[in-house]
Amino acid sequence: MAFGSALGDLGMVQQMLADSEIDIEASRALILRTAWELDTGSAAASQLTSVSKTFVAEAVNRVVDRAVQICGALGISAADAPPARLFREVRPFRIYDGPSETHRFAITRRAVRPYRQSRTGVADG
Ligand SMILES: Cc1cc2nc3c(=O)[nH]c(=O)nc-3n(C[C@H](O)[C@H](O)[C@H](O)COP(=O)(O)OP(=O)(O)OC[C@H]3O[C@@H](n4cnc5c(N)ncnc54)[C@H](O)[C@@H]3O)c2cc1C
Repeated sequence: MAFGSALGDLGMVQQMLADSEIDIEASRALILRTAWELDTGSAAASQLTSVSKTFVAEAVNRVVDRAVQICGALGISAADAPPARLFREVRPFRIYDGPSETHRFAITRRAVRPYRQSRTGVADG
């Protein structure tokens, strides 16, 4: 409760909850698509693995960050409360298995490769 209302009835909190639902559903869809491409041995699997890893690692951080914000001081200061614990746990997602910057570098390299090859005739690996 805040200002006499349930948090979920406050407009700006509703926006944060909606954005988290969008991040969660988009992450689920991307993971399922990537798993399908991997299962079928598709050539698109490498690119989608990097796209999924980057998007989901950043989305889960946004979701947990909003949860902390919604819970206020309790969200960040109570060491055993779920938001504070999750906050510590999800931050490394953007670093391990390749930092987001490294994946973005690889995603761009794959995205421009066909155009670079058609312009120069040289494959850059
Ligand atoms: C909790 C945790 C668990 C881990 N578990 C494992 C494990 O089980 N097995 C394992 O092998 N490793 C593990 N690691 C290591 C992890 O994979 C590396 O930390 C990660 O690959 C980043 O390497 P680095 O720490 O050497 O950072 P660096 O390579 O030194 O990069 C530092 C920063 O520089 C930036 N950067 C790096 N490259 C680029 C680039 N090309 N373009 C732009 N910016 C760039 C990024 O912001 C990056 O975060 C784990 C790490 C953590 C935090």
